[in-house]
Amino acid sequence: MTALNETHDPKLRSWVASAQAPGCDFPLQNLPFAVFRRKGGVDGFRAGVAIGDQIVDLAAVARAGLFTGAAGEAAQAGAQDKLNALMALGQAAASALRLALSRALREGSQQQQALQACLLPQAEAEYDVPARIGDYTDFYTSIHHASNIGRQFRPDNPLLPNYQWVPIGYHGRASSIRVSGQSFVRPCGQLKPPGAEQPQLGASKRLDIELELGIFVGAGNPLGEPIPMAEAEDHVFGICLLNDWSARDIQAWEYQPLGPFLAKNFATTVSPWVVTLEALAPYRVAFERPASDPQPLPYLDSPDNRAAGAFDIQLQVELQTPRMREASQPGASICRTSYRHAYWTVAQMVAHHTVNGCNLQPGDLFGSGTLSGPTMDQAGALIELTEGGKKPLQLPGGEQRTFLEDGDTVVLRGWCEREGAARIGFGECAGTVLPARAMS
Ligand code: CA
Repeated sequence: MTALNETHDPKLRSWVASAQAPGCDFPLQNLPFAVFRRKGGVDGFRAGVAIGDQIVDLAAVARAGLFTGAAGEAAQAGAQDKLNALMALGQAAASALRLALSRALREGSQQQQALQACLLPQAEAEYDVPARIGDYTDFYTSIHHASNIGRQFRPDNPLLPNYQWVPIGYHGRASSIRVSGQSFVRPCGQLKPPGAEQPQLGASKRLDIELELGIFVGAGNPLGEPIPMAEAEDHVFGICLLNDWSARDIQAWEYQPLGPFLAKNFATTVSPWVVTLEALAPYRVAFERPASDPQPLPYLDSPDNRAAGAFDIQLQVELQTPRMREASQPGASICRTSYRHAYWTVAQMVAHHTVNGCNLQPGDLFGSGTLSGPTMDQAGALIELTEGGKKPLQLPGGEQRTFLEDGDTVVLRGWCEREGAARIGFGECAGTVLPARAMS
């Protein structure tokens, strides 16, 4: 588990002045990773690190030979078009690079002039999915979400008996994961509304969001060798925002007995910036499990996990309708919650995923599952916020929504703040719904 060190000092200031701007997601204490290129794409994608409103180009850092040792090796790995090589080096390498960048970006650094030449304004950049994602696994770690959804599908039996014992998950689809800014076509599929005699192919009428976090795997494990809890976080590179768009009407008809399929695999959006667990160290909180609930089996338990296995990451969902956009109005907040309410931690997801010997590989992605908090205004999906479409959301300007309409844009945001630590953020994860394709 990463401890606090000099890179977390809230008093640190960068010679990149925008890093000190109030509310900035990317102060010197954050230093998240992405892959980027100059807009228009003449140059290739490579890794970068955010500082204020700038990006440190790791390929340029590597070419200039600014860092030596493990930090230099990590910068070299960042010269590639995806983060996989950097992720594969493991946490120590990313940590060495973080320390070197933290020192080089501080006010008074001898390396200011050399590093200045490696900066690109974020306003001039475009991003790609941070890693070549071999496998995407979607978990279901919010007991509040599981209970809210379960109540709609099974009023008498909302929470299935395995939930409090097993970190539930399923294998998702990696090919349709795109970076923030994605527009996607409303999916078609088999729909069988209540009372209909037989299903029909049609465009989903109950298109939903899922407010999730994405967890990127760093160093992998050999096939057949489980990762114990004590080492689980050593295999995690970092965390991003993730919107796992879902077609609830397709889901309701198809999901038994094997679970979601076409209701989920048409689009998933991730934020470009991946915040390392090291950057999140000041925001760790105890993993709490009510005494009346089953306690985790030993393979899902550890002293570190109990003491500080959870993260207090603030989360918000904004919905901007076409009418708001035309009137240049910002999106309306429809949910505010925190990752601290999850029932299972990042370390437990890793330990459970590998307990059967399943091998994780650098760049694999976990979804946390929809992160609903304990009250209904903290629900991370429209199906919960509108009670299955029965209670429309009232939006500013008199508009209403049950599920998403064509042209709607959804923006996820995440940040951490507390007394005695620097506020850090995740940037944003935005996606827009396009009309369904005409069916022949
Ligand atoms: Ca999901």
